[in-house]
Amino acid sequence: MDIKYDYLIVGTGLFASVFAYHAKKMGKKCLMIDKRSHLGGNIYCEDVDSINVHKYGAHIFHTSNKEVWQFVNSFVEFNRFTNSPLANYKEVLYNLPFNMNTFSKLWGVETPQQAKEKLEEQRQRYAHIETPANLEEQALKLCGDDIYYAFIKEYTEKQWGRSAKELPAFIIKRIPFRFTYDNNYFNDDYQGIPKGGYNKLINGLLEGVEVKLNTNYFDHKSELDKLADTVLFTGRIDELFNYEFGVLEYRSLSFEHERLDIEDFQGNAVVNYNERSVPYTRIIEHKHFEFGNQPFTVITREYPSEFTGKNEPYYPVNDDKNMQIYSKYKEKADLNGKLLLGGRLAQYAYFDMDDTVEAALRLVKKELYNL
Ligand code: UDP
Repeated sequence: MDIKYDYLIVGTGLFASVFAYHAKKMGKKCLMIDKRSHLGGNIYCEDVDSINVHKYGAHIFHTSNKEVWQFVNSFVEFNRFTNSPLANYKEVLYNLPFNMNTFSKLWGVETPQQAKEKLEEQRQRYAHIETPANLEEQALKLCGDDIYYAFIKEYTEKQWGRSAKELPAFIIKRIPFRFTYDNNYFNDDYQGIPKGGYNKLINGLLEGVEVKLNTNYFDHKSELDKLADTVLFTGRIDELFNYEFGVLEYRSLSFEHERLDIEDFQGNAVVNYNERSVPYTRIIEHKHFEFGNQPFTVITREYPSEFTGKNEPYYPVNDDKNMQIYSKYKEKADLNGKLLLGGRLAQYAYFDMDDTVEAALRLVKKELYNL
């Protein structure tokens, strides 16, 4: 059969869509397929009576990369949403990230100096840890006992289904510390939510690109592969190679969406539940991402769960064991001149959206512009 397309792109998530946009712009012919019935992968939003519900978990765009920010803003305008999550621990609400508001509620301190002294006192016990070997050591070294045991240990073990001693330290580096009364979760220069939701971003990227939904790559792999010179695969890398080096572990989530006939459920987009005895890790109230003023609301409880192969793989478990398996798949993929990989699943990386766009733009430069 004649080769018809330059690229077969498996998946229509953010990575795939950024690549497809540029490939089309360069005059390349692309066919995109997705096993789901909609575009956008996990950034897809479902419109529930004008509230954009983040169906696959809350997505808040934040970046310090100006190129990435300008790129996404060229498809849709972003609003001024700033993520300021709350932590509910034993029915008391604290501000995140750890900042003067948190310290003053936790320790009764008022000034940055007092908070630093208190934190220093808390860290003293763990000063002997030079290179933290795992998340627990990293967190204790950074925060000491009070913060670790109230906000981190139980949340983390609930989220990952593993002891904090078995988790890589880098996961916790995502939590910033601050000695001002500033509840902005992220330290990045830019953040926001697309006005009108993430589907606008994806629709903008994919305008004019041929897409087949409800099409599972693995059901038709050999015919589909013949259609294109190169395949960009954004699904699970272990599945692509039929698990020949072993199964990679992921953490999954299940979402319980609920529409309530009240105007406001929690007064904030994100409230974390940090105790282990509460089965969910957070409640998202979607209207707050876009400052909605509807007379009703939609909330989502997020329950962490094991990835079984039947539910969705959300978070790669980047511990040593899995990374060794991953590197074998990566090595094998690199030997295949017709195969490109991208995104959280195929690169087995805990990417934020800006990392994803950045990685896709890197591939664009290499593959399409030979830079
Ligand atoms: N985390 C925590 N307590 C919190 C929020 C986060 O211990 O209240 C830890 C936890 O280990 C989690 C990691 O920080 O896996 C990253 O959390 P974040 O909410 O930033 O990431 P997301 O789940 O949104 O990707």
